[in-house]
Amino acid sequence: MKRFILMFVLLFQLTSCNGQTKTTSKSEPAVGAKSELPKTDAEWQKVLTPEQYEVLREKGTERPFTGVYVDHFEKGHYACAACGNVLFTSDSKFKSDCGWPSFDQAIKGSVKYTQDNSFGMVRTEVTCAKCDGHLGHVFDDGPTETTGKRFCTNSISITFVPEKKQR
Ligand SMILES: [Zn+2]
Repeated sequence: MKRFILMFVLLFQLTSCNGQTKTTSKSEPAVGAKSELPKTDAEWQKVLTPEQYEVLREKGTERPFTGVYVDHFEKGHYACAACGNVLFTSDSKFKSDCGWPSFDQAIKGSVKYTQDNSFGMVRTEVTCAKCDGHLGHVFDDGPTETTGKRFCTNSISITFVPEKKQR
């Protein structure tokens, strides 16, 4: 009984927060409940594993030939592991001996490019256009004639989404 009263009080407080609603019908989704991206490092640390955090937020690099998608060639697409932004299709993936998942192009508008001068090299860093998560680097030594690019991408920064099977 005590618990019931407590719930009632909580419910009353919740509904009264909603302000001027005239009906007493079931509450609607709270304003601001829509999923928003984490903003601070602490918030990112809560939603990512330590390994993901190191690569996506601190621009780390997973060791070559250790990622789950190096030799993964199923039909589907690859989304940002941090925010779900769709980045690459399986059609753009090619077998590369560099040790990281490699794509010859990213989906238009899904990524951003920044010059990276770290480690005494001039490289082009690729980040997710939606959450700024670090994905990898893009190089001009890709094997396909269409783009000539190689998006050298950390497996840990992406999530594979299989193509839906036709009914
Ligand atoms: Zn993202």
